[in-house]
This record gives sequence, structure tokens and C-alpha cells, in this order.
Amino acid sequence: MEPTPITVARGDGIGPEIMEATLRILDAAGAELAIEEIAIGEAVYDTGNPAGITAESLASLRRTKVFLKAPITTPQGGGFKSLNVTVRKTFGMYANVRPCAAYAPFVSTKHPGMDVVIVRENEEDLYAGIEHQQTDEVVQCLKLISRPGCERITRYAFEYAIRHGRSKVTAFTKDNIMKMTDGLFHEVFDEVAAEYPDIESEHWIVDIGAAKLADTPEAFDVIVLPNLYGDILSDVAAQIAGSVGLAGSANIGSEISMFEAIHGSAPRRAGQDLANPSGLLLGAVQMLVHIGQGDAATRVHNAWLRTIEDGVHTYDIFDADVSTEKVGTSAFADAVVARIGAAPETLSPVSYEAGEPIVVKVPERAPRAKTKVGVDMFLHWRGGRPDDIAAALLPLAGGLKLEMLSNRGQKVWPAGSPETLLTDHWRCRFVAIDGGSIDPRVVPQLMARLVDAGLDVVKTEGLYAFDGVPAFSRGQGQ
Ligand code: NAD
Repeated sequence: MEPTPITVARGDGIGPEIMEATLRILDAAGAELAIEEIAIGEAVYDTGNPAGITAESLASLRRTKVFLKAPITTPQGGGFKSLNVTVRKTFGMYANVRPCAAYAPFVSTKHPGMDVVIVRENEEDLYAGIEHQQTDEVVQCLKLISRPGCERITRYAFEYAIRHGRSKVTAFTKDNIMKMTDGLFHEVFDEVAAEYPDIESEHWIVDIGAAKLADTPEAFDVIVLPNLYGDILSDVAAQIAGSVGLAGSANIGSEISMFEAIHGSAPRRAGQDLANPSGLLLGAVQMLVHIGQGDAATRVHNAWLRTIEDGVHTYDIFDADVSTEKVGTSAFADAVVARIGAAPETLSPVSYEAGEPIVVKVPERAPRAKTKVGVDMFLHWRGGRPDDIAAALLPLAGGLKLEMLSNRGQKVWPAGSPETLLTDHWRCRFVAIDGGSIDPRVVPQLMARLVDAGLDVVKTEGLYAFDGVPAFSRGQGQ
């Protein structure tokens, strides 16, 4: 077999030790890899590079398309960018895949039957990083969810389930509250699920779903989530499996993918031959599957399971009741190498097939008929009660109708509730008098009248109908 080119970074702290151990095990298992090494992290930040990775290193990733990355130490203080975020965003790594399995009775856990894979959308949602302070009292963060983004991640989750012999995919959203953003994720999930009749699918509201996951993780198989919920619940899942130090993760892009441990660089343990290389090793197993070296992945994973089962444990999982030998990083790697070809006897052995990486195609959709039906003007205003601002706005409405005012989404005019806390951030909704469409030119004209009247317009949001169906929130209390 031709060796597969990959890019390797040894990282900071315990990174070099656990990478050395991992590469030694991969080599012993017959993985065919042509390694390009790059430097990332402290050494690069220290040269004044705020991203912690050079343009030449990014070029190596573009060449090999596969990145096996050890953890780095993120510098404290302003001015530095997260290397992980840079790499994920630069290469459009849309899926974060984190298997969270229990290894009872060999690693202590409250959930011995747990075997969950978290598939987290990695690019959208509140993590777009679009935040603004608009008034003295109010800041906002935009939550952006796209249909292609939802299609790509949900399809990936179902394709992953098929490829890995899993039987159920669950989505978590909060679409009872965020009917449009989380509603789109749920809607697309249902559409995609219908194309995979052999895989069971279900949806949970994220709050009760998270409670169920923390209490009865055995009830779940693959879980697909929007970015924020996925960020939080992937850590919960790894923690309750009892295996934060044992979990690996894959960041999958349509071209370039990155594989790593979920833990950090553990600087206090660096250079002492103490750290557990398992998280990075299991990340590397995901990498081998991704590049079609399923046989090597199977040999590595089964030898690792057998090592854990034989009680050969690093300090972080050592337990005098079940462990037989406390070892350091290097001796742990020796133990795994010695078991290449062996399989676990109590834990379930794995078997990965050779194959191409999962490729997800998102179908193009025809644009829908879009009409403008109104505008929300947001004002920074502290001149009094809702009736006062309505009195100021009504003469400025021109050919539009002032339909309502809200404050932090709560309707306060007409017929508001006196108990509502009023901040200095007001949404003022203007619509066509006849309830139909509006000429888009009336919006800047309205804005100019408001500004001329001394009002501080901090932003506008167009109100649209798609194929005649209004596509904006009506807000609470309306
Ligand atoms: P950490 O994950 O490095 O350590 C948390 C705890 O777990 C520590 O007690 C540590 O000793 C232990 N631990 C972690 N990995 C271990 C291993 N393989 N074997 C044995 N014990 C292990 O988290 P932290 O201390 O919050 O962060 C340290 C540095 O790592 C920070 O600079 C942080 O920004 C960075 N970090 C990097 C990544 C990454 O590169 N992907 C991820 C998380 C944190």
C-alpha cells in the first residue's frame, strides 16, 4: 500500500510525549503513513505569530489534507487567536465527532453501558462570532443557522451511523423556543432522516435530552447537535463516560480533517513520562478509518482495549482494585505494541472496514419567491414609557403601520404589561397598512425620518415572506 501523507504536530506540554507514543503504536500496527511534521503552538506564538501556526504549515495541511495534532498551550492574554478555531474555520471543518464510551469495569464510570458518539456542528450557530453592543444596556450575539449547514451535519451523522453499524441518530434542539433557527435544524433533520429508513431517528428538546443523556446515556447511540449544545454536551458525555483523558475527536471538513485528543497540554505533567496517550491514540484511530486504513485502525484499537482490560494503566485511570500495573507514557505504548494482533476478551472488540472517507453532498435548492412585508427598526431610546415612544413614532410612520413595540422580545405596545423591565433597546415593527408587501425603498426613507427626528436607530431587520409565508418571529406575548 502507498503510504498516506499526513501532517503531524507534536504540540506543547505533554504533546511531544503522547505523540511519540501514538506514532510508535501506529507504526507497529502497520499503518502506512508519510509524515510531514509542522510546528504549532508556543514556539510559533513566541515568534509573534498571533495564530500559533504559519502559512507554510497551513500549506502542508492543504497538501496532505489530514492533520494529526497534539494539544498545545494557548497563551494567556489578548492578541492571540485560538489555533483550533483558526484551523477549523480556515478549512471549513464542519463536523466535530467525539466517541464517548465507557470501559467498565476497567475504568471507573457510573454508566457502564455507555457508548455514545456526539456529532457537533462546528461552524454556525452562536459561534459565528458576530456580537455587538448596541445601547448602553444591551449587547447581542447573532445566531446563524443555514439550511446547507444543517443538511451537511445531519447527513454526516446518518452516514456515520451507517458506516459504523450504529442503529439510531438523535437530534437535540430547543425548537419550542427558537422556532426558526433550531426549528430549521429539526426540520432538516426530519427530512434527512426520512432518507435513511433503516436508521432509527428521534428528536429531544435539548434540556430534557441533556438530562436524559446525563442520567441514562445508554439510551443514546449517535447524537447530532447544533454548535453550542454540542460544545457543552460533548464535554458532559466524555466526562460521564469516565474517560475525559481517553477520548479522541475528529474535526471533519469536506477537504481537510483534523484528529486529536480532547484534553489539553497538561503542562504540569509535561516531560515526566506520566501522561496517558490514549486520547490522541483514539483520535489517530479515527484518522486511520478516515484515510481508509481500517485494518490498522482495528489492530490499534483492539490492542489498546486489551491493554486497558489487562489493567496496564497510566496514573490518571489507575485504580488499585482493577489495575495490575501503573505505567508511564512510554511503557503504556510498549504494552499496546506488545498486544498488536490481540483482541479484548471482556470489552467488545472493534472491526473497521476499509473505505473512502464519508463524503456528504448537499443538494442545491431553487430560490423561493421572497417579498418584503415590513421592517423592525431597533432604537436606543430612554425617553420614557412605551406610549411615549409610540407617540414619537406614529407621526413618522409614513405609509406604514406601526404594529408593535417590544423590549428584549417582550411586547410592550400596544397593551403591554406594566411589570415588564424596560431597557434602552426597543424593537419597533412597521408593516404595510394593508398587510401585504412593501416597496424596499420605504425602509431607508423611514429610517431617515427617524434619524432626522433625533432617534438613534441601532439596526434594522427586514421582515420577509417566502412563497407567501411570513418568515420572522412574532415574539413572545403577541
Ligand atoms: P488539560 O486537559 O490540559 O488538563 C486538565 C487535567 O487533566 C489536568 O489535571 C491534567 O494533568 C489532566 N490531563 C490532561 N490530559 C492528560 C493526559 N493525557 N494524561 C494524564 N492526565 C491528563 O486542561 P487545562 O489544564 O485546562 O489546559 C492546559 C492547556 O491546554 C491550556 O493552555 C489550554 O488552553 C490548552 N488546551 C489545549 C487544547 C487543544 O490543543 N486541543 C484543548 C484544551 C486545552
